[in-house]
Amino acid sequence: VQVFAGDAHRAHHATELDEGRLIPSWEAPARADLVLAEVTRVGHHCADAPPASTTALAAVHDPGYLGFLESAWGRWRDEGHDGHAMGFGWAPRRSAGRRPDDLTGQLGWYSFAVDCSITEGTWAAATAAAGLAVAAAEAIVGGAPSAFALCRPPGHHATADQFGGYCYLNNAAVAAQHLRHAGADRVSVLDVDYHHGNGTQDIFDRRGDVQFVSLHADPAQQFPWFSGHAGEVGTGPGHGATRNLPLARGTDATTWLDTLDVALSELDRFGPDAVVVSLGVDTYAADPISDFGLQLADFTVAGGRLAAVGRPTVFVLEGGYATDAIGRNVAAVLDGFEAG
Ligand SMILES: [Zn+2]
Repeated sequence: VQVFAGDAHRAHHATELDEGRLIPSWEAPARADLVLAEVTRVGHHCADAPPASTTALAAVHDPGYLGFLESAWGRWRDEGHDGHAMGFGWAPRRSAGRRPDDLTGQLGWYSFAVDCSITEGTWAAATAAAGLAVAAAEAIVGGAPSAFALCRPPGHHATADQFGGYCYLNNAAVAAQHLRHAGADRVSVLDVDYHHGNGTQDIFDRRGDVQFVSLHADPAQQFPWFSGHAGEVGTGPGHGATRNLPLARGTDATTWLDTLDVALSELDRFGPDAVVVSLGVDTYAADPISDFGLQLADFTVAGGRLAAVGRPTVFVLEGGYATDAIGRNVAAVLDGFEAG
């Protein structure tokens, strides 16, 4: 598998509010470094790529949001704050729907969670990650059967105009949209992260040309809490192109793999020209923030089943917080895919 990776991500390590305390985020630089070390060790070829262009980003994100993300750290610094930039007020369920002028107000307007914040290096790291996703999509366009974008920060929680869930720019959506622009008539995004990919669903909700299929912890019990229910199937022209498969807390590997088969049958039905896999490995049994039961060998099995779809596939790294195991788990998916 052709791997796209760089070191721009290291400039970003945010602060998160966790159980009432501000802590260094679980989404830490070591994650990507360890995945890169492992995929290199097992022999995958790695290349860097330039940051995503404004055009590639604006194809899936709101221009006002992009301008905000790019300038937020500078504005925060100019206001003289010490900590990382985060909001503390969010729009009530019924509000005037008007973006505030004030920076702290805008931090609430453009985010949905305080599990991530904006730092000096966030924009550079996020645009670099999205650039890796574009490069991986481009490799598929050039005829490669598969490519892996080692994205950090991850992306699947970022909506068209909100950050949260450690995500700022939606790398998987950028890759899917790039594939569409490059001539794929239909693209499927399959999200296997422990958490629902609310951002990707939001971006493609009304689209009939990009399918979104996700298996994840039931949002009634887990982050991101407000989307990912089975009844969410897409809107308007996108009706039927979204499929959610929520799973109970503590789901074991057998049930998870059976549910993956249901997801894969949805891909078959849609018949995509290319597939983007939002590859989170926080389904791992020892993950510190999740509670599914997958072991290393299950990731290899999953990779093999993804290969059986028989479509060019872009893998985009999402979550996975058992740092000592993240490299092996990701490499197992790629190895299973290649063997399949
Ligand atoms: Zn996750």
